[in-house]
Amino acid sequence: MPKAQLKARPAAVSGNAAVLDIRRERGEWVVEFMSEPRNGTERLWFNLECTGAGGRRVRFAWMNAHLCLGTGSAEAMANARPVVRLDAGDWRRVKKVQVHERPLGGHFLTFTTPAPCRRVQAAFCYPYGPDDLKATLKKTRGIWDVEAIGLTGKGRELLRVHAAADKKRPGRPGVYIVARQHSGEVPGTWVLDGILRAVAAEEPARRLRRIEWWAVPFVDLDGAVEGNYGKDCFPIDFNRAWADMPMRPEVGAIQEDLRYFAEGRRRRLVLDLHGPGGGETRVYMMHPRKNAPKAQREAAKSLQECICAQIPEQPPERLGVVPEYGIRWNWRHNLSSWAWDGLNKTLGVTIETAYQPIGDGLWSDRDDYREIGRRLANAAAVWLTRRRKPKARP
Ligand SMILES: [Zn+2]
Repeated sequence: MPKAQLKARPAAVSGNAAVLDIRRERGEWVVEFMSEPRNGTERLWFNLECTGAGGRRVRFAWMNAHLCLGTGSAEAMANARPVVRLDAGDWRRVKKVQVHERPLGGHFLTFTTPAPCRRVQAAFCYPYGPDDLKATLKKTRGIWDVEAIGLTGKGRELLRVHAAADKKRPGRPGVYIVARQHSGEVPGTWVLDGILRAVAAEEPARRLRRIEWWAVPFVDLDGAVEGNYGKDCFPIDFNRAWADMPMRPEVGAIQEDLRYFAEGRRRRLVLDLHGPGGGETRVYMMHPRKNAPKAQREAAKSLQECICAQIPEQPPERLGVVPEYGIRWNWRHNLSSWAWDGLNKTLGVTIETAYQPIGDGLWSDRDDYREIGRRLANAAAVWLTRRRKPKARP
């Protein structure tokens, strides 16, 4: 057995992986690793880098894929298509993965670099960090104002971006968007990136620019930078911390900002962008739970109709889900419920965009996520500016 030269560790930014073993097998390196739960009960996100591969392929063995959120079954696991970046190249998705049976039950997953390399970074999906946001803001210069609305638990600036084509018209329809309440759910920020670009690309008189846009790209910024998955994290999940007495400083700062947003604005919408279980292959809207107020459920249905019209590639029945899964904290303490109860019946919905290729590979790259964002922005604008049916008289 030759002495291992390959070194593997969590990536410097948003890194996550515990490396269990490095060895050489049939001329290629094998790196066994697990996704770290870190500060929470769940695990899924991984992002690791290897140096010293010496011009060989690297095979990654994700040993706890069976324990991760939404990849527990062999079928769901088989949908995973992680991304790799070889040497100085760009990120790309691996084309295939292999699901292996474990001797005493369960499965794990392997994938191999598409070519030999000297160094490689591998992640569950395209990472999106503060530098990616900076690049987009630079590209859309002049449209988005950036302001720190508070500090994170670890003292980082919590940023909100804002765009209004005509600043002299207060009270126009507005959308408030947040992403990364669960810090590892990168598809949410790729979708937001598409919204930021779509708004910037339109002329001031067009539909998107008639709306006022507010967005917090990284709610759990600390977790996003540090590489935590963040779903059901301790002491409380960010999206269960929206009590009247908020349980996270970030949530408290955004609640205050949302009150400024809502003031004097009759038509409002809140979008909360997430990534779902790891094996899912679609984009969908999470409806209010069955026991939520009827008016809230009806408002969500009308928004879904607008989203369906923008995403005809996916059958409508796959575009909406009424959640029934178990929750570790009070389900009413999420953003959507808080927006309805605490912000004078403002509709807030969660949008889940898969980490994996969506709709049989129809959408799988970063620009595809941005395209989904553009369409969501259009759906939001249509919903906010549509003519409402007059109320029936008794
Ligand atoms: Zn989430």
